[in-house]
Amino acid sequence: MDLVEYQGKQYFARYGLPISPGEAADTVAEAQAAAGRLGYPVVVKAQVQTGGRGKAGGVKLAADGAELTEHAGNILGLDIKGHIVRRLWIEKATDIAREYYASFTLDRSAKLHLSMVSARGGVEIETVAEEDPEAIARLHVNPLDGLSSEAAAELVARAGLDPEAREGAAEILVKLYECYIDGDADLVEINPLVLTTDGEVRVLDAKVTLDDDAAFRHPEWAEMDIMSEATERERLAKSKGLSYIALDGSVGIIANGAGLAMSTVDVVSQVGGSAANFLDVGGAADVQVMANALEVINSDPSVRSILVNIFGGIVRCDDVARGIVKALEEVDISSQIVLRLDGTNALEAHRIIDETASDKIISEGTMLSAARRAVELASVPGPQGGAK
Ligand code: GDP
Ligand code: MN
Repeated sequence: MDLVEYQGKQYFARYGLPISPGEAADTVAEAQAAAGRLGYPVVVKAQVQTGGRGKAGGVKLAADGAELTEHAGNILGLDIKGHIVRRLWIEKATDIAREYYASFTLDRSAKLHLSMVSARGGVEIETVAEEDPEAIARLHVNPLDGLSSEAAAELVARAGLDPEAREGAAEILVKLYECYIDGDADLVEINPLVLTTDGEVRVLDAKVTLDDDAAFRHPEWAEMDIMSEATERERLAKSKGLSYIALDGSVGIIANGAGLAMSTVDVVSQVGGSAANFLDVGGAADVQVMANALEVINSDPSVRSILVNIFGGIVRCDDVARGIVKALEEVDISSQIVLRLDGTNALEAHRIIDETASDKIISEGTMLSAARRAVELASVPGPQGGAK
């Protein structure tokens, strides 16, 4: 689970890392109120799950209310690498003297944690990594030993951080390691870690990936408001016994068997569409399972058509058809459903579907034609694909 910056900062704050005061805002008015409380100048920052926001115009300094209104208005709704900005983080601006980089992640091949620190942080770190890898100091950390203050101090010195920043940076590194380990993160990255003109070292950006499988021992994650909408849906699906993974396209997919579900995702992209999810209903695609699957997919606002691709081996297609009919009775499904049913009892299944005569369901004979139809429906403009 990837956190957006302000969620990452909330998580850092629990471990005592120095972050600047700030507030989340979803509208220009909220941004104004937040800036009023924080005091100008502030930074207006797009909250999307991707880096490079600065270069894309998603990070702007505002010296007063007029500038804030302008920047907040421009950034809300901005498309940054396919992510539409719906939330801002308004932060009290920092006077930056130097920008550094610090991170922890797991080095799987070394079977050790890896810390990377550089004196050349900021928006060009990728270029530095490519053109001048020597400028990034590395340290492997054995989880049994942990990271000592001495090792952290040695690392920041080796990275060439300015002498006046070393003590603060080493302290931050020790806390960051604790946060990475105790917080069950797969990645924690600070870029930039800054030296301020007042000689303080602070965290100005946060990139955090948490290990979803550790959620059971972190009840505080729920309080921190870090569950994305997609993660919530994954949890709903899990509670219903479905194996569901949220993706970012617009065609909802239901298939039986992981192999068929993956091929269905592939065929949808082959014909120019994109899948909204991977969902394998498994070997027990009975009435209730189908109804649950449709309910989960229907709760995803980006779904504009649903493709059901079932091959009846052990699963009986007539059960699947009954499940869909039942789901349509129970849940108000917003999208049209394109159905490809083949195999055991397929004829009976088609009879059941024909009998319902619902204009929500379209039957197609092959996986390819079904995928084409679903993609076509998903590209129809309007709040939801297809006729309502
Ligand atoms: P990213 O581009 O998505 O990594 O977003 P960052 O949060 O790293 O911001 C990009 C750049 O904006 C930073 O490298 C800083 O140079 C600048 N920036 C961010 N916050 C501040 C601030 O408080 N004051 C100033 N002067 N610049 C900032
Ligand atoms: Mn950054």
